[in-house]
Amino acid sequence: MAEETIFSKIINGDIPADILYQNDVCICIKDINPQAPTHVLVIPRKPIPRLVDASEEDKALLGHLMLSVGEIAKQLGVEDAFRVVINNGEDAGQTVFHLHLHLLANTKFSEGSLGM
Ligand code: 5GP
Repeated sequence: MAEETIFSKIINGDIPADILYQNDVCICIKDINPQAPTHVLVIPRKPIPRLVDASEEDKALLGHLMLSVGEIAKQLGVEDAFRVVINNGEDAGQTVFHLHLHLLANTKFSEGSLGM
């Protein structure tokens, strides 16, 4: 079995985190090393390592994550300007191998660019 990630430990309550929102499917925590004034992570309880590891049976879960991001953006008051990022794989910058969505806001995103 794959080694438990830091996010599974947070979900299980073994290590603390600033939890902003949670439901049956996912939790939302503040990123420990924020890259924008608002930077939160939306993490499914199910430990899928990378986006590419999700399968047909995860369809509803993936849709749920997207809807949760929108709901969280509204709760944070950033619904008119935010960015969602998923890093898939080490070379794409993924450091925690438990699928998660970054929600970034309250910063000036360069127009027409993904910041690459
Ligand atoms: P990745 O690079 O895998 O896309 O994103 C992992 C994110 O998790 C990073 O932005 C990093 O700052 C955040 N992170 C890593 N460890 C912890 C932790 O223990 N607590 C919290 N709240 N965030 C963490």
